[in-house]
Amino acid sequence: GTIEGPQMMGHPKGLFYLFFAELWERFSFYGMRALLTLYMVNEIFEALTSRDLAAAAVYASYGSLVYASTVVGGRVSDTLLGFRRSIMLGGILMSLGHFVLAVENEYTFYLALALIVVGNGFFKPNISTFVGSLYKDGDTRKDSGFTIFYMGINIGGFAAPLLCGWLGREYGWHYGFGLAGIGMLAGLIVFWRGIKAGVFLDKGMAPSVERLESRVLGIKKKTFVPILAFLAAPVIAMMLSSYGAIGGGDTFLGDQNVVTLIFKLLGFAILIYMAVIMYQATASERKKLAVALMITVFMSIFWGFHELSGSVITLFASRNVNLWLIDAAQTNALNSMWIIILSIPISLLWGFLAKKKLNPRTPYKFALGLSLAAVSFFVLSLSGNAADSEGMVPFFYLMVMYFLISVGELFMSPVGLSKITDLSPQRIVAFMMGVWFLSSAYAFQIVGFIGKQLAVESTDKDVRGFESLDTYIGGFELIAKYAFGAAIIVFILGPIMKR
Ligand code: GLN
Repeated sequence: GTIEGPQMMGHPKGLFYLFFAELWERFSFYGMRALLTLYMVNEIFEALTSRDLAAAAVYASYGSLVYASTVVGGRVSDTLLGFRRSIMLGGILMSLGHFVLAVENEYTFYLALALIVVGNGFFKPNISTFVGSLYKDGDTRKDSGFTIFYMGINIGGFAAPLLCGWLGREYGWHYGFGLAGIGMLAGLIVFWRGIKAGVFLDKGMAPSVERLESRVLGIKKKTFVPILAFLAAPVIAMMLSSYGAIGGGDTFLGDQNVVTLIFKLLGFAILIYMAVIMYQATASERKKLAVALMITVFMSIFWGFHELSGSVITLFASRNVNLWLIDAAQTNALNSMWIIILSIPISLLWGFLAKKKLNPRTPYKFALGLSLAAVSFFVLSLSGNAADSEGMVPFFYLMVMYFLISVGELFMSPVGLSKITDLSPQRIVAFMMGVWFLSSAYAFQIVGFIGKQLAVESTDKDVRGFESLDTYIGGFELIAKYAFGAAIIVFILGPIMKR
């Protein structure tokens, strides 16, 4: 059919604006994430013997909320604001969050994280769906559009840890966080210029101007919702700051904090809601939903190991790896580096295998992805045998670990994303996308659990070498076993999912 609007390199011109806006947004997100755990351990919780424990709890709660907020942001965009307003609002909140982090202050630390949580909720889901909306239904270029977009994500994810990490080391944490904020502002400017240049045509507008202009408490909804978003930040900040156990860990609530408790209750609510949806669905819908749900659960387990990179793996890198050329914060660039190198070869591989009719089915790709996660942690656990007299291991193992888990990511993440939209009945596709993002949110609960197990308790502020080696190596061995167990379950469930 006829192609609408201005084109560039065979794609709608709007794609390139979204590409650069998301590149810069992820630059800010991953630049900050690279510094976050080290900043908490060495600054915020520096005085505590259980500084690792506190940092693990905050990192997990922040990560869970930063992905769970996308469910709300996506829904508000669908029903009221539209993509354009949502993305602008999210970007403003996120850059504010980064700039608050750039200001030296322990008390505003949680507020900064909370602003990023709310901002990401409005930005991330909507810019992804915006990409899809640039193509007509059934446009075969959509997949390659998403591959280009995923590349943008990882260019940001690669450059940011290197630059923010370098600034953080040479000039101080707050310069690193400040650069992340400037990155987010750059993303906003790109997006704004796209709107002005008209490259998004009529896409991404609010679904109903009437609703947007209607009033609550005398305030127009288009103003009311952003006010609510800003007001949500201090509430979330309070949740994040109560990272300690409810009741001191000796009540029936055990060592849970506010956020872990909320996510458990939320999990029950989602299960019940899913059960109701399954009950109401037709038999064929029910089967598809079951597969979609399984994919989401396995993706969550995978991210649960993968997202350790910003916490346990960063600490391991700083305490136990003989790094070369880069520092511990900068090792956060390695995942994105491998994704950039590998995404084209792997998509060519799928094309090649499809031609020979050897293309593995989704469940097998997932089982392979989880196996690769298992092998990657197994390799990391082997590094313990190569430790030198100081208890430091060669950098090589960390490189190989990131290589393997990145291949696993490319077997799962892009594949799952497109499968979810195929498998969901149209009337709940937005809800299922929300469930998909919740898989990342729950992954951070796994990250928090593992992070707490692998916390090193010490009065020594410069934990290094043999002081921490055994904790990490033992942990990596266990993670490898669990990841392998999950992979085997997917292999067994594969034939069932096929039906
Ligand atoms: N690295 C990807 C991104 O930032 C996926 C992260 C995730 O979903 N947990 O978009």
